[in-house]
Amino acid sequence: MAAERLHRQLGSQQRVECDGDNIDVFGALVQLGVPLVLRPLKGLLGAYLREPALGVLITTRRPLSVQRYTAAHELGHFRLNHEPSLDNEDILRRSPFVANPEYDLQEVEADAFAMGFLIPRWLIAWHAKKQDWKKDHFTKSDVVYQLSLRLGASFEATWRTLQHYKLITSSIATDFSKVKVRNLKKELLGDHRPPDYRRDVWLLTERDAHMSISGSRNDLFVLRLKEHGGSGFLWDAEELKRKGFSLVSDVREKIHDFGIGNPTFRRLTVALEEPKQGQISLSERRPWQPEQPLKRLELTYDLTGPEGEGYSRVERRRVLEAT
Ligand SMILES: [Zn+2]
Repeated sequence: MAAERLHRQLGSQQRVECDGDNIDVFGALVQLGVPLVLRPLKGLLGAYLREPALGVLITTRRPLSVQRYTAAHELGHFRLNHEPSLDNEDILRRSPFVANPEYDLQEVEADAFAMGFLIPRWLIAWHAKKQDWKKDHFTKSDVVYQLSLRLGASFEATWRTLQHYKLITSSIATDFSKVKVRNLKKELLGDHRPPDYRRDVWLLTERDAHMSISGSRNDLFVLRLKEHGGSGFLWDAEELKRKGFSLVSDVREKIHDFGIGNPTFRRLTVALEEPKQGQISLSERRPWQPEQPLKRLELTYDLTGPEGEGYSRVERRRVLEAT
């Protein structure tokens, strides 16, 4: 309830509907006047301090989804008027919705706040509508992984929250607890082998038009787009290259094995050559009639995560804009 009240105060739902971005937890701390600093903390994911001054510390040593969850947990301590807290890995191991007498009540409250703040029910509903996902889709691990990326949460935090909202059964949740996210990434990448599987793999389709994608510097995009090659319309990958993406794979999947002129799916896998923010605009057009595209896909991305040492990115950008 406290998380929902804060969303109403910050106008989060309107912002998501307008920008198609995830919950801006670092921006919320800035807006509430809670000083936030990122440091390579040893043995801690984050801390909420009140003496000698109010402030939140978050580690730089973990992926963006963990930094965001930790920031939401510390925000919970602040909003719920808690005692100062030094938070280690336990915040990831505890299930926020399970009453266990060994847990410190203040920590359980901050965990539940974090989940409710990062993954409110209305945000899941918004993504489901945009992607045309029905309740059945949430039984599929690949769908839940793609949802987790759009929420800016880990795969585990996402399925735990789906279970809490009773959108999946406990037996599906048990299945998800055994899923190796690395295998979901491998499947999406097909023959392409990246140097490691710590990076996330976003499957982007025409349903992601006008979304804001917030990820990290080594993330990969797999663009899966229906292509009408039989009538001469092709997605123009050159537009991606001009925007600083390198094309690591370009394949066509047949929708039906028979029939000439049927649409196919074009599968473009791309990586940014350097971390940055920008916009993808891609057209499906006839090479001889470039001014008359059949379809366009536009979306914005920020692949500058995770948060680095010092102030958060949102705070730095605000300072830059003000000067
Ligand atoms: Zn805590």
